[in-house]
Formats: sequence, structure tokens, C-alpha cells
Amino acid sequence: MNKISTKLSLPTEPRAFGFWVDGKSVPAGKRGVFERLSPAHGVPVTLVPKCTTQDLDAAVAAARTAFEDRRWSGLNGQARAAVLLRTGALIRERAEEIAWFETLENGKPIAQARAEVLGCADMFEYASGLARSLHGDSFNNLGDGMFGLVTREPVGVVGLITPWNFPFLILCERVPYILASGCTIVAKPSEVTSATTLMLAEILTEAGLPDGCMNVVTGAGGTIGQALIEHDDVDMLSFTGSTRVGRAVVQASGQTNFKKLGLELGGKNPQIVFADADLEDAADGVAFGIGFNTGQCCVSGSRLIVERSVADDFARMVQEKLARVRIGDPLDEATQIGAITTEAQNTTILSYIEKGRAEGARLICGGEPLDFGRGQYIAPALFGDVTPDMAIAREEIFGPVLTIMPFDTMDEAIALANDTDYGLAASVWTRNIDKALTVTRRVRAGRFWVNTTLAGGPELPLGGFKQSGWGREAGMYGVEEYTQVKSVHIEIGKRTPWVE
Ligand code: NDP
Repeated sequence: MNKISTKLSLPTEPRAFGFWVDGKSVPAGKRGVFERLSPAHGVPVTLVPKCTTQDLDAAVAAARTAFEDRRWSGLNGQARAAVLLRTGALIRERAEEIAWFETLENGKPIAQARAEVLGCADMFEYASGLARSLHGDSFNNLGDGMFGLVTREPVGVVGLITPWNFPFLILCERVPYILASGCTIVAKPSEVTSATTLMLAEILTEAGLPDGCMNVVTGAGGTIGQALIEHDDVDMLSFTGSTRVGRAVVQASGQTNFKKLGLELGGKNPQIVFADADLEDAADGVAFGIGFNTGQCCVSGSRLIVERSVADDFARMVQEKLARVRIGDPLDEATQIGAITTEAQNTTILSYIEKGRAEGARLICGGEPLDFGRGQYIAPALFGDVTPDMAIAREEIFGPVLTIMPFDTMDEAIALANDTDYGLAASVWTRNIDKALTVTRRVRAGRFWVNTTLAGGPELPLGGFKQSGWGREAGMYGVEEYTQVKSVHIEIGKRTPWVE
């Protein structure tokens, strides 16, 4: 499985990062550090400060001052766009270094990390246009005595909590849009993957972002994350992660200052395959949809729903594809599936595979830990004889575990697809345009793919239906989330007196 080609090297010693407040890196000092071991190699790769809640308060204060004195929101769109464009260029210049740290901390294949980093540069370049085109509305139909305007204003200080599965990509699906709107940021990355968020803060400063507009506080979710979601001086919170913490974010907002929320939570995403699909393409897409990022992906296509007449043949095709995916050292340029990011996640995935067996599902292939001498790897698992009530068919596993369920009619396929608390993403594979459009309309998910999966980019918004979240990130919809609208009535001419 593990075809060796060129391999990048491991660092000889971990790189120590400071946290980032008011345009400066602050070393850990006496705070202590998190030492991150590469999940693929078991060697220390980064050290990041264990920030205190006082550090968080300082970061929020810096973001507040930067917002209130309008050093960023007061610039014209052209000036803000120039900073975002320079950021994109600097990300491209440092792409190799960013991708390396992403792989070292997360365990994802280096080729994938490189592609993600270049995609992130593109996010900044695209959002630079939004900084210039963002605008409100006017009402010229209120009669000769009145004129109406709707202006868009930045929400203010945005808290940004990001997870470990796509540390740089998820960050860059948000930061350029938040900055394009004129808001300022306090980011808290996952404690296991903080390096590239700190690198972005440094790059933004180098690109000319005024001090205080991007701050990064590193620390544990339960302390620093919790303090950020409860902070009374944060106007909006963008959270990406588990549904469990998503609930805590909603509660914290209600119990403190009713901060506006953007939530991107879990998914249990269906892939519907009709018998008339290009089955070769569909099998490749399904293997990609569950194998990409070791299935640690909120939009992974983890529920395969296949027309009964081709279900067995299709399962064999997917099995054959999965057997040929190159799994191994993520620093190997040829690797397609790398290591599981954390020991806890590794344990969770293996326990779901056990649960699937215990519930009576049939393990068609994979599911076993792979031993490459070091690191944690799991062969992608494919389960047949799955019923919709089983935990492996209902709960987000966040790993390379795929379940197959057959259907006879389109209505049945749609019902199975919608039989979930989540609504993040879905795919349909068919050559029939009527089926494609009907399923696209009736499946409740925020992202939908026809004859493809996991496609994305800066233009189209991201976000979920149902318990997969609130709001949208990216695209024009994404930048608008970080604004609030103000209605302005302007009287023309002499006022009709109220007092006679
Ligand atoms: P979490 O929701 O715990 O972590 C996501 C982010 O929230 C991290 O930055 C984390 O910090 C932070 N966080 C944790 N607790 C709190 C809190 N009380 N207040 C504020 N922030 C907090 O996810 P896990 O890492 O535990 O993963 C568990 C499961 O969540 C996965 O198996 C998967 O199902 C789902 N998940 C979904 C993601 C998605 O993209 N939709 C992303 C990640 C996870 P820290 O990491 O430092 O604890």
C-alpha cells in the first residue's frame, strides 16, 4: 500500500511559537507549552504557549481597540483589498513551509496539504474583491419626502474557534471574509494544530494588516475556548467543531451578551448512487469522499445509499478502489491517506468499527489498524448489511468508515438520505437530469454535489441545515455574515410638523 517516493524530512527539534497579540508574537515565558508530537512519527514538532485567560482578555482588548478606532474598518475597500491580496501572495511564497507544519501537526499527506494551502491563498485573493464590492442598498420609492438607505457595517470583534482536521483551510475559509467585512479577530485554534494559525497572523502583519486586527490565543478548548465563547466583549463567534461544543457555544451566547453566532458542526453525509450512474466515476468519488483526510472531514460522504440492482457490484468496485489507495507516511509525496490526527480520534474510530460488528453489520473490508512501525493508521472500512438505526449509520464517526444501504425507489433514497439529525452535505450520482434535480431539491443539506463530491472553492458558501449549524462561510454570503445591516431614513425638504 505504501509506495515510497520522495520523502520530506522531520524537524531535528520542535519549533517554538509565541502567541499573537496586537501585531506581536509573545513567547510562552512561564506559561508552559503544549508539545505537539507528529501523529505519523511520534516526534515533537511544535511547541505553543498555554495561554491564560488574562492573555485572552489582552487579545480581546487589542481587537476591541483596533475595531473602535477604525484603523481597519475605516480604510476604504481598495486599501483593505490590497492587504488581502498581499496576504495571498505571501501564503504562496511560504506555501511549502505552511504545508509542512500542517502535515507535521495533523498527519495529512503533504501533497494534500500543499493543495489546501494554495487554495487558501486563493481565498484571500477572492475575498479582496469582496472588500471592494461589499455594499448595501437604496430605496428610491419612498415618495418625494423620503429616501432610504441600507448600509452594511462590520459586526465588530469576532472570536474564531477552529478544529484540527483542516487547521489552515478552515481558518482561511473564514479570516479573509471576516477581514473583508472590516471586523477584527481573536482566533483560538485547536491546541493540537496551532502552528499554521500563528503563521497566518505573522503573514497578515507582514502584508500590512494593522496591529490588533488579528490576534491568536493558544490553549485548551475547555479553558481558553470556553472563556472566548463566554467573553462579553466579543460581538460574534464563529465556531467549527463538534455538535457537543456547538451546543455549549449557543448556551454561552444566551447566558452572556447574545453574541451573534456562526456554527459549522457535524455531518453524516449521504452519497446516493443510481444504477444509471457512471459507476466507475461514482466508485472513485465514493472512495475519495470517505478516504480524503482519513474521513476526518465534516463533509465526508460516509453513508452510501445505492440502488439495489447494482448494490453488490458497486460495493465490490468501491472495495477494489479502497484497496489501491496509498496509505502511509504523510511526508511521502505519493501518500493519499495519512495518519489519524489524535490518539483519542483513533480510539473513537476503532470503537465504532467494533460497535458496527457488534450491532450485526458485515465488515466487507478494512477497519484494521495498520502498522507502519510508528504513528496511527486505519484501513478504510466498508460495512454492508447496515440498517438505519445502527450507530455507524447515524453518528458522525469522523474517520474512514463507510456504510452501504440499498434502495429501490427514488423516494426511498431521499428518505434514507434525510433520515439524520444532520444536514451538512450530500452527493448524487446519476446520468438522469430529472433524478439529479429532484434529489438535489429534496435532500436537506447545505452543500450538494452532482456527479462529484467534496468540491469547493471561495465562491460558493459553506454551511449546514438542521443540526449541522447556522449561517454560512465563504462567498458573498460568507462576508455578509460578518456584517449587520442598518436602515437609514433620510427626510428630504421641510418636515411636516407634529406639533401644531
Ligand atoms: P471539539 O468540538 O471539541 O473541538 C473543536 C474546537 O473547539 C477546538 O478548537 C477545540 O479546542 C475547541 N473547544 C473544545 N471545547 C471547547 C469549549 N468548551 N469551548 C470552546 N471551544 C472548545 O471537537 P473534538 O476535537 O473533540 O472532536 C470531537 C468530534 O467533533 C469529532 O470526532 C467530530 O465528530 C467532530 N468535529 C467536527 C468538526 C467539523 O469540521 N465539523 C471538526 C472537529 C471535530 P481544543 O482542540 O484545543 O480542545
